[in-house]
Parts: sequence; C-alpha cells; structure tokens
Amino acid sequence: MILSCIHTHTTFCDGAADVETMCAAAFAKGFESIGFSSHAPIAAKTGIKTSWHLPGERLAEYIDTVLAARRRWAGRLKVFLGLEVDYIRGLRGPGDRDILDLPLDYTIGAVHYVPSPRGELFVVDAPEEEFVPGFREYFDNDGEALVRAYWDAYGELIRAGGCDVLAHLDLVKKNNARLGFFSPEDPEYRRQLAETVDLIAEARSLATRSGAETESRRPVVEVNTGGIIRGRTPDAYPSLAMLRLLRERNVPLTINADAHAPDHLGGAYGTAAADMRKAGYTAMLVFDGQAGKARWREEPLDR
Ligand SMILES: [Zn+2]
Ligand SMILES: [Zn+2]
Repeated sequence: MILSCIHTHTTFCDGAADVETMCAAAFAKGFESIGFSSHAPIAAKTGIKTSWHLPGERLAEYIDTVLAARRRWAGRLKVFLGLEVDYIRGLRGPGDRDILDLPLDYTIGAVHYVPSPRGELFVVDAPEEEFVPGFREYFDNDGEALVRAYWDAYGELIRAGGCDVLAHLDLVKKNNARLGFFSPEDPEYRRQLAETVDLIAEARSLATRSGAETESRRPVVEVNTGGIIRGRTPDAYPSLAMLRLLRERNVPLTINADAHAPDHLGGAYGTAAADMRKAGYTAMLVFDGQAGKARWREEPLDR
C-alpha cells in the first residue's frame, strides 16, 4: 500500500511533535507524502478560545514552516500544506474567504462543534470528563438528540462544501464506545448514515457538473484511524456499515491517521484497508496535489 497521511497535527496546534520531526518520521516509515492539517484558527471568527486550535497570530509562521519543510524534503518526501477547518453553524466553515485566500494545497472539513437544541456549542469528541457534564447540561443525556444534532451539522458541512476531504465521518461514536448513549444498529441511526452518504454523493456530482474550477473540489472521504490508534474506538471512522454505503454510491476514500505524534503515522492502516476490502473497495486515493497535475491519484489497496 502507498503510505501517506495528509491529516497531521503538530505543536502548532495539539500535536506532540514539530513539523520537521513528523517529516523525518514519515520518511523513516517509507511514506510517499505527508500533509499538515493544523486545526484552523477560530477565535477571531467565533470568539471561541481553545488550546487545540492554531492561534491566528501563528498562521503565517505555520505556512512558512511547512513550505520550508517542503523545500528541505524535495525529492525524498512530498510535503503538503493544509488545514483542518471546523464547520460551526453560522460562524465558521472551510469555504470562508479567509481560508480560501490562503496558499493551501487542500482543506479538511470537520465537525467537532455540535449545536444543542438550545444553541449551545458542544464538542462531540471532547475528553470524557468534559463530555459527560456537557452532554447532561446541553442534551439532557438524550443520545438520540445528540446523534441527530451531529448528523444535521455534518449534513450542513457537506452542503456548504469548500473542502477537499471530509474528516472522521462518524466521530459521534468516539465517546459512545465507553458511554453507550446510542446503538449503531438502531434503524434511525442507519437511516442517518444513508442520508449522509447520499448528501456526499450529491455534493460530488454537483461539483462535477459545475465545471473545471470546482472539479478539483469534489470532496473525498477519509478513513481515519485516529480512534483506533488512541484506543478510543475498535474501528476506523467511518464504520464498516458506512463504508458499504459509500461503496454503493462510488465515493472514493483516502486513508489518514489523524496523527498527533510520530508513532501515529501509518497506525492501523492495515485494519482500515481490511474494512475497505470488506466493503468492496479495491483502490484508494492518494493526495498528489502538485502544480499542473491531478490532485488525487488512484492506487490499488494491495500494492
Ligand atoms: Zn478532527
Ligand atoms: Zn485532526
């Protein structure tokens, strides 16, 4: 399998290592490429202050650092510049002007913030000690309400568009593995998965029809092994059930580790590939956004 990870965090946000250390680790593991996807700044647009986003005042330094690494590693490792951009209803999205104006190779769209029925913003993948009180206060411990709010928010991200990769599709299951607030076998949950996959297929065909400029912006789904690596989920995001739905609708996949440390790179890729094969996939996409070339390349899973 061609090894690549374009979902990578560093000390610019909540990662444990710097850009150079991550590049060296990727090279040592035989990776073809690495792409950096710091959590895009949100404070100026949303007023939300966190420790896990890239501070706005360090954005230029982040870009310079990744581009310098690209020059340093040229001929040995492809280095791409991206951002993981939150979709937050009415406040932030990957299609925002300030993001589009940056010299990025790609963006990853993500839903971490889920609005409660009363409009409070709840971080769905927060550590358990934050998740538990928030879930009680904002959702009255109603798992169905949280799951519905999550997929509604994800649907809005897909419709809003403007990103190249859709991050960790069923992230809502991260805390469910321990807290059990919904059943993935529930017919209503299955219906939400199918509806989301329909939206993705629709967004891809719309982007194709609207011409060359947006052709390159057809969203690709990542199979994200971050939950497995950190011992939070037994399987990747998304689940095998959702991979089967994605296969039916011909949505292509790429594999990422959501790496926050050097040893995360490539972690559980075999598990991800095995589930992709079970769902009927024989190929994956590898990001290759070099100037003048197609941004994605198809590679057999078994190579
Ligand atoms: Zn994320
Ligand atoms: Zn991430």
